[in-house]
Formats: sequence, C-alpha cells, structure tokens
Amino acid sequence: MYLIIRCQNCGTFAYIDPFQNWKLCPVCGEIMQRGSVPEYLEVKDHHEADAVIAELERYLYLNNRTDLTRDETRTLRAAYVQRVGSGTFR
Ligand SMILES: [Zn+2]
Repeated sequence: MYLIIRCQNCGTFAYIDPFQNWKLCPVCGEIMQRGSVPEYLEVKDHHEADAVIAELERYLYLNNRTDLTRDETRTLRAAYVQRVGSGTFR
C-alpha cells in the first residue's frame, strides 16, 4: 500500500509507504511529514500511485485549480475503491 500525499512547499504529489513517517520531496527537497501534509488516498502499489498522481495533476490542470476540495477527495477515494474492486482493495 502507498499513501498519496502532497508537498506543501511546491505542490508536488508524491507517495509514501504508510509505515514511513516522512519523505523528502523529490522536487524541492522539503520534508513531507505525515500529519502535516495533505493525504489523499491509499493505493495498492506504486503503479497505481503513479497513475492516480497523473490523474490528479491532469484534473487540477484542466480545471485550473490548485487543490481538491474535501468533497472531491472523497469522490476520488470512492472512485478508486470502485475501480479496484472490493475484493482486492483492503
Ligand atoms: Zn516540494
């Protein structure tokens, strides 16, 4: 499992092993600390993480937005769970 998070300094999406407490931003080097950065959703592997991040960036770009609302985050999680199927996700 990986958790999709976002750097608060530069806005880059990244993913972290849920057992890790922090990760360095691959773009700006900022420490992304669990609990102090936005957490979007959990995905099952790093391929999924890359795909979801690409989707997120595309969505924000197309809608000329900088971040998701809480509702959109919820919708994203629900859509992901549905796509992966209840048997394999969690
Ligand atoms: Zn950064």
